[in-house]
Amino acid sequence: MKSTPVPVERSEKLNLLDLDRKAMEAFCAEIGEKPFRASQLLQWIHQRGVDDFARMTNLSKALRARLADTTEIRAPEIVLAQRSTDGTCKWVLQTDARNRVETVFIPEEGRGTLCVSSQVGCALECSFCSTARQGFNRNLTAAEIIGQIWVARRELGEGRITNVVLMGMGEPLLNFHNVVAATNLMLDDFAYGLSKRRVTLSTSGIVPALDRLAEVSDISLAVSLHAPTDELRNELVPINRKYPIKELLEACKRYIGREGRRKVTFEYVMLDGVNDSPAHAKALVRLLSHVPSKVNLIPFNPFPGANYRGSSPEAIRRFSELLHAAGLIATIRKTRGDDIDAACGQLVGQVNDRTRRQARLQAASS
Ligand code: SF4
Repeated sequence: MKSTPVPVERSEKLNLLDLDRKAMEAFCAEIGEKPFRASQLLQWIHQRGVDDFARMTNLSKALRARLADTTEIRAPEIVLAQRSTDGTCKWVLQTDARNRVETVFIPEEGRGTLCVSSQVGCALECSFCSTARQGFNRNLTAAEIIGQIWVARRELGEGRITNVVLMGMGEPLLNFHNVVAATNLMLDDFAYGLSKRRVTLSTSGIVPALDRLAEVSDISLAVSLHAPTDELRNELVPINRKYPIKELLEACKRYIGREGRRKVTFEYVMLDGVNDSPAHAKALVRLLSHVPSKVNLIPFNPFPGANYRGSSPEAIRRFSELLHAAGLIATIRKTRGDDIDAACGQLVGQVNDRTRRQARLQAASS
């Protein structure tokens, strides 16, 4: 385990981790280099994990010197690395002098999933979410998002990360441009080469951004639904007041309606006495009857100050059986890494809260 704070120096150099293929080709054109140089650079940086231009031996010495003068390859620094008894790894990454985000690797039989953050904190206020309590500071840059994979691969070794989920801290669709650039790199054969089925963006339902995403990307989609009615969802996922369930499901249908796209995964955190009754299960079945979907039931992982308790295993099993009986595909997410606070909904990082939400919550509880 490492836990030394790392001072983050400011830099004026262009960080090449920020550039997806299109941007890398534009950069190469700008410095008078042919487009194939972009592929070479992407391979060195992302496939081989090289951050020292001197090692990029198929580039001319002059180009290497020029790149070293004006650019850099800078991923966030690890300030804390923890490993759970079940093999889950969590890294706390320093993104600037006052902010940290968290990234989690979950190894399973035949696959390894990296859960990546997209913002420092979150501007939304889902009532069951520990990230929400941290408030919000800023969007992560594309370099800071893809840098989480770059760092994790360096730590884990090649071939361990087979899937990426944008389910860490933040609402990815509120950081649209940088998230799209980073996911482009995840899919690029000269970078991480993951299939679109293995890269999943999880959103609380920012409808206009979901439609924009459909225009530029075909990665897999997960939606944090958590309630079958607007009344309850307004309470659990307040962005629902702006984009209610009906609009959200229509946007989901538009997203998967495009060629080659599959089902939407609906995430449903199981909260004792709140959304876990047989009546809720039946309402969920009615709601999703016309959307190609699967439901992922998530046992609630409590955190200090949480206002909810998790549903009992029996209630989760009963809920799942009702969904199955109605023909829905439903899975129950295994809780992983809870001994290192790496389980779903527990990521907090360190947020220099510009929204003053932390202060408001403290005042309300004192
Ligand atoms: S659940 Fe997701 S969108 Fe909601 S507050 Fe937490 S991080 Fe933000």
